[in-house]
Amino acid sequence: MIGFIGGSGIYDALPLENTREERVTTPFGDPSAPVTIGKLAGKEVAFMPRHGPNHRHTPTEAPYRANVHALKQLGVKRILASNAVGSLREELPPQTLVIPDQIFDRTKHRTPTFFGDGMVVHMPFADPYCPHMVSHLSDASDKATDANHQSGGTYVCIEGPQYSTRAESEFYCAQGFEIIGMTAIPEAKLAREAEMCYATVAGVTDYDVWKSDSEVTLQEVLENAAKNEKSIKDVVEHAIRTMPDERDCDCGHALEGTINTPTEAISDETRERVELLVGEYL
Ligand SMILES: [Zn+2]
Repeated sequence: MIGFIGGSGIYDALPLENTREERVTTPFGDPSAPVTIGKLAGKEVAFMPRHGPNHRHTPTEAPYRANVHALKQLGVKRILASNAVGSLREELPPQTLVIPDQIFDRTKHRTPTFFGDGMVVHMPFADPYCPHMVSHLSDASDKATDANHQSGGTYVCIEGPQYSTRAESEFYCAQGFEIIGMTAIPEAKLAREAEMCYATVAGVTDYDVWKSDSEVTLQEVLENAAKNEKSIKDVVEHAIRTMPDERDCDCGHALEGTINTPTEAISDETRERVELLVGEYL
């Protein structure tokens, strides 16, 4: 099964057949919404709107752990996601799609791991997105949309919910980063901990505030997020249709050698909570 987490502007599933809704509960609370499951080109797809129905959850409040865990429970091995982002580069105007390959994390108030509570896991995260899925989504962008698009780039993830100050925006620009948003973290970290492949299509909605004296407005963001909806869905749909049956990357055994607490020291309660994720390693 392939998972699709829809960001701002994407609240319904792709053209799936034989859809059903499944309410999933997890040891990390309830996900944003019931999962819509259906078929596309013979493949099972599970759709989750990150911010919930009617856009209820802020980027800080979204139940990232429950969302990723729910998809894991359903048997998802690869997650494609979308994000609405600001642009930090002149050549990436609104309505451009970017497939980022790096993240610069500036979040402050989110739980970035399934572990803790007496169980320490240190996972490599040098390449935060699955390189195979990044390249697969990039190929899909070349083939499935006429929209301006770029493969690769660094996603600066801020806490929000306010947009950045001019000083922050100018700083990120000066670093040579490409896009700025609020939702890449902790989703990418959790997908890696859950040994799932993860990559995202980011749709540019605005130029942030480095470029001119004006502000980013919600109205501008929503208008361009709506305009990006079709191109993002076209890319994701193409990526699902052409997804290879087998994974050919290291994501599927990302937890190997990362557990720093002796098995016998992990409490039954903690073990039960993370059983689905690390069962085979304990
Ligand atoms: Zn992978």
